Amino acid sequence: MKEVNTKYLIIGAGISGLMFANVKKDNYLIIEKESEIGGYCRTIYKDGFIWDYAGHFFHFKTEEMKQFFKDNMKNEKLIEQDKNTKIYYKGNLIDYPFQTNIHQLEKQEFIDCLYDLYNKVEKENYDSFLDMLYGKFGKSIVEKFLKPYNEKLYACDLNCLDKEAMGRFFPYANINQIINNMKEGTNNSYNNKFLYPENGAMSFLNNLYNNLDKEKIKLNTEIVSVDYEHKIAVTNNDEIIKYEYLINTSPLNKFLEITHSAEDKKLLDRLSYNKVLVFNLGFEKKSQFDEHWIYFPEKEINFYRVGFYDNILNSDRLSMYIEIGYNKNDKNIDVEEQLKLTIENLEKIGIAKDNKLISYSTILMDPAYVHIQGETNEEVDGWKKEMKEQNVYSIGRYGGWTYCSMEDAMIAAKKLAETI
Ligand SMILES: Cc1cc2nc3c(=O)[nH]c(=O)nc-3n(C[C@H](O)[C@H](O)[C@H](O)COP(=O)(O)OP(=O)(O)OC[C@H]3O[C@@H](n4cnc5c(N)ncnc54)[C@H](O)[C@@H]3O)c2cc1C
Repeated sequence: MKEVNTKYLIIGAGISGLMFANVKKDNYLIIEKESEIGGYCRTIYKDGFIWDYAGHFFHFKTEEMKQFFKDNMKNEKLIEQDKNTKIYYKGNLIDYPFQTNIHQLEKQEFIDCLYDLYNKVEKENYDSFLDMLYGKFGKSIVEKFLKPYNEKLYACDLNCLDKEAMGRFFPYANINQIINNMKEGTNNSYNNKFLYPENGAMSFLNNLYNNLDKEKIKLNTEIVSVDYEHKIAVTNNDEIIKYEYLINTSPLNKFLEITHSAEDKKLLDRLSYNKVLVFNLGFEKKSQFDEHWIYFPEKEINFYRVGFYDNILNSDRLSMYIEIGYNKNDKNIDVEEQLKLTIENLEKIGIAKDNKLISYSTILMDPAYVHIQGETNEEVDGWKKEMKEQNVYSIGRYGGWTYCSMEDAMIAAKKLAETI
């Protein structure tokens, strides 16, 4: 068995692992199981279409990360967009978020939403995500959009999710904001503006990769076992890696399997999450739609969200991503059937009417959205604290078992690299 030594062993060359190494600059070794870097921020180039693993757009909340991003993209064309997003509701398109645009509904539906919003019973403390939705928005807004949409996305009973399950990504609004939006139409939510590289999200990751010493990044290599007491990791090529610090960015549910610890196995059994089946679809010509993405709450439609790369990149053929949510326990996903249903629904809605599909790709993001659950997340936090004692840090959206953006993953990786 070959033996290698490193100070910082990084599992995964996604945005978190690459960012950590960019800040650390030296004494690291990145092990990546895939044949290319990028993780979920990879881009697929096929038949002239540019598709991410489901749209990956850069919404910056900090000037620091925005500047870092721009500095690393100096030689690339960046597109800045004011987001244009809609909800497809009973055959009409209404502005997102639903709760601040109820005035765009048919009269009786609007009255129901407004009446229930006014008469809702707010609580001091909410038991779950669903309980919070009812308390803050009333029955009609919840049952017309918030509940069916989020059930399709998370693929679980919303009573199982923590009231803060979506953190800052949930577009909260009180009655005043809802009423004011009827006249002012500001539609503020967390991501009003976003940046997108002309060659897809991956081009930023490639630049992070190019800043690094390629000798210190091993592709096609998987960490299959970790002994954190002795600070040893083993690869699928039977290499032994001795480290001082372990930075895990692989999904926690996968990491807990390779530590072979009975305690970790108990935590693993409690983790809940969804999977997202993504179709990237390329058509012969453009559609009539000019939105960047559209949300679909209705259960009769198999997908919960679709996005239009062509409207973001200003290209001349309809180029889309389609997202379909599954529970972690859903074993038999019929991809062919879902593709057929997707095309049928796109035709019915009018998006793919009189158009021809000329190229596509399929991706299963597993895990995709971590289910944030009060007690389990406390256990994850406890586990992280214990791991810190062993110099093990689990970060990123999946390593850290959280709901966060690429920017959040970059911030967390940078902060850790500056601290240890
Ligand atoms: C449907 C969807 C849409 C999204 N859209 C956006 C968006 O528009 N904007 C945004 O900011 N964020 C978005 N995100 C979130 C974004 O994908 C994540 O925040 C980000 O990709 C997390 O990066 P990471 O490096 O932490 O993890 P990952 O990208 O998962 O990287 C982990 C890496 O570890 C590797 N790995 C795993 N196990 C091992 C092992 N045992 N040995 C070696 N390597 C291993 C993997 O191959 C992978 O390369 C979206 C997420 C989803 C699911």
